[in-house]
Amino acid sequence: MQTEFTTSDLEAYLDESLPVEQMAAIEEALRQDSSLQKQVAAINGRRDAGVHALGEIWRRHRLSCPPREQLGSFLLGVLPKGAADYIKFHTETIQCRYCAASLSDLRGQQSAAEADVTERRRQKYFQTSAGYLGKS
Ligand SMILES: [Zn+2]
Repeated sequence: MQTEFTTSDLEAYLDESLPVEQMAAIEEALRQDSSLQKQVAAINGRRDAGVHALGEIWRRHRLSCPPREQLGSFLLGVLPKGAADYIKFHTETIQCRYCAASLSDLRGQQSAAEADVTERRRQKYFQTSAGYLGKS
């Protein structure tokens, strides 16, 4: 399995001028290799088009979008480091709008669920202390 890519491979990747299999191979490597992610981000940063163009590529293909469950696990902080790094790269460096929207959606759901738990815990606490106070 090829894991080393030259800068010109990565340039071509950003230009989408590689054969499909090679595009896919780089995509796959990007999922696992955080130094390769940095390399692509750096190349992209040097370009006039900026992060936007890379985002465009991602949005057009949506090949690298992590599944929604994985985004949920990411928010809960239960993903393995490699996977979490990839999601950070995908949403922060690539700025995939699709996943950013999913993330904020999920974040909303999670904080609603947390608020619910906190509220129930609070009520329980008050009931307990009320009972305790009642006895004294
Ligand atoms: Zn995405």
